[in-house]
Amino acid sequence: MNKNADFRTLCVHAGELKDTQHGGAISPLYASTSYAFTDVEINQYPRYFNTPNQRGLCQKIAALEGAEAGLIFGSGMAAISTALLSHLKAGDHVIFQDDLYGGTRNFIKTEFVKYGIEFSFTKGLEATDFQSEIRENTQGIYIETPSNPTLKIIDLKAISDVAKTASIWTMIDNTFASPVNQNPITFGIDVVIHSATKYLGGHSDICAGVVVSSEQTISRVFESAKNLGGSLSDYTVWLLERSVKTLFVRVQAQNQNAQLLAEFLRDQEWISQVYYPGLEDHLGHEIAKKQMHGFGGMLSFDLSESLDAKQFLLELELVKPTMSLAGIESTALSPRLTSHALLSEEERQYQGITPQMIRFSTGIEAFEDIKNDLLQSFRKIS
Ligand SMILES: *Cc1c(COP(=O)(O)O)cnc(C)c1O
Repeated sequence: MNKNADFRTLCVHAGELKDTQHGGAISPLYASTSYAFTDVEINQYPRYFNTPNQRGLCQKIAALEGAEAGLIFGSGMAAISTALLSHLKAGDHVIFQDDLYGGTRNFIKTEFVKYGIEFSFTKGLEATDFQSEIRENTQGIYIETPSNPTLKIIDLKAISDVAKTASIWTMIDNTFASPVNQNPITFGIDVVIHSATKYLGGHSDICAGVVVSSEQTISRVFESAKNLGGSLSDYTVWLLERSVKTLFVRVQAQNQNAQLLAEFLRDQEWISQVYYPGLEDHLGHEIAKKQMHGFGGMLSFDLSESLDAKQFLLELELVKPTMSLAGIESTALSPRLTSHALLSEEERQYQGITPQMIRFSTGIEAFEDIKNDLLQSFRKIS
């Protein structure tokens, strides 16, 4: 497979395995946990992240991110925790942006202290906010853009420049953008992580994670990964490969619906604010335009003061009020009541999460049907 093929072609064909026995059209599934020795040192084994299906899918996802290599994990958190721990030891320090995925924030706050790893959360989103947190023992910077749930944008190139000057690494959780909309390696970011439970899986039926980077960095992550043991079952690897084949068309449709929805909601008097990087008045619009191919399928909005967010969610008929995101079906939630419920009121205020906020993950349904569902719910509760 030509690595310079078009993104859409890579989605379908990169890393595919050939069925040499029967000539079948798709990658065969190799379920073996045991393989004949070809070399006494290196053998294939699921927890070594090197079975045929694992290697094939790693190649596909690495190709989509313009990376040299990758590893597939049993969840996004397995990918995040392993990537971080493989790069840290007691006494080290890491800089995180303030609004992080809740599970990541929880991992840092509960686990890092046990291992004597220091961390700080930045006060803002500018490169200078990260630079000012650099200490003598700082090893790296970890970011998420667009952020959850307020879709804040961080300048990838500026962050990578700050890190390179300080000779420290950078990692990004690229889940919200997906490889269709943003390829951080192009801007000098070292390690790209995905919760494949979201856009890569895309059908709300797979829990998985991915780390991609240079060969050298992936070898380093692997040294910890084989000890921590967070590999993904080959059955699910095989299913995830099928999902990634349609990644481009799914995310294009989701981008389009999100843009239409953001523009529609912006003009509604029952909505007080819309957060979507594709809107020109979004604070991060110019940077997003520079570093994203599309603005993504995630948006948030605030209902006007008189409307109750929980009631609004309960009256939806087509759109499902569910916890996860990025599936082909539209879903919505109240960050205050669910995804960000563990934060203190003060932390939520600091991140700009209001009681009126709805986080919306657009699916691939017809825009008119999504719009009409939101309108009928608004009418019922007003
Ligand atoms: C869901 C999610 C994760 C965690 O992924 P799991 O697959 O649930 O472990 C990490 N980061 C972001 C941005 C997510 O949305």
